[in-house]
Amino acid sequence: MPDISKLVSGFRTFKATTFSRQQDVIHHLLEQGHKPSTLVISCSDIRLSPAEIFSSNPGDLYMINNIGGLIPKFGTAGISGILSALEYAVNDLEVQNIVVLGHAKCDGMKMMMSEKFTAEKGLSEAMKVWLSVASEARDAVKKQLADKSEEEQQSACEHEAIIVTMRNLLTYPYIKKRLDQNKLNIVGWRFDIESGTISAFNPDTKFFDEIA
Ligand SMILES: [Zn+2]
Repeated sequence: MPDISKLVSGFRTFKATTFSRQQDVIHHLLEQGHKPSTLVISCSDIRLSPAEIFSSNPGDLYMINNIGGLIPKFGTAGISGILSALEYAVNDLEVQNIVVLGHAKCDGMKMMMSEKFTAEKGLSEAMKVWLSVASEARDAVKKQLADKSEEEQQSACEHEAIIVTMRNLLTYPYIKKRLDQNKLNIVGWRFDIESGTISAFNPDTKFFDEIA
């Protein structure tokens, strides 16, 4: 069994370094209240936290993490945890940006692209229902890249799922309203831990361009 005390010693290191260095920022944050400008919707297995990836200060980001970094369409039942976080970020915190942050080597996308996804006893019901949020991404890749390797298909699915979530966000009336008022900006990015790069979805070309 892994030693849980590793977390405690890790926290001590954090307290003596990062936490100590950021005292001014934390003090300001506590005085002014939490007002993050950006909601990041990301995946539970992204390996590095978005705050690390973007060198963010404490309180800069509001985060939703789940398998695949997905948001189902408006009106989907059984997602009240995610729905309430989304509503709170947009309506109460009034975030100005939503970053749909997918990533390379995603276990969720790997599961969705595998035979297990369609096999009768492959995945749990909960997992199947959840991953089905992005099944249109899977279907498109299976159809268009049928002759490509598993790796290429998975990578394509990671990109497609970001687009699906961006599209699903537009089905929420309160998001649409803030977009129409030019008070909100939605971007779709994919972080590649192997190459250390971020690619952004370009709505004009429908391709992802490396931006950093
Ligand atoms: Zn993932």
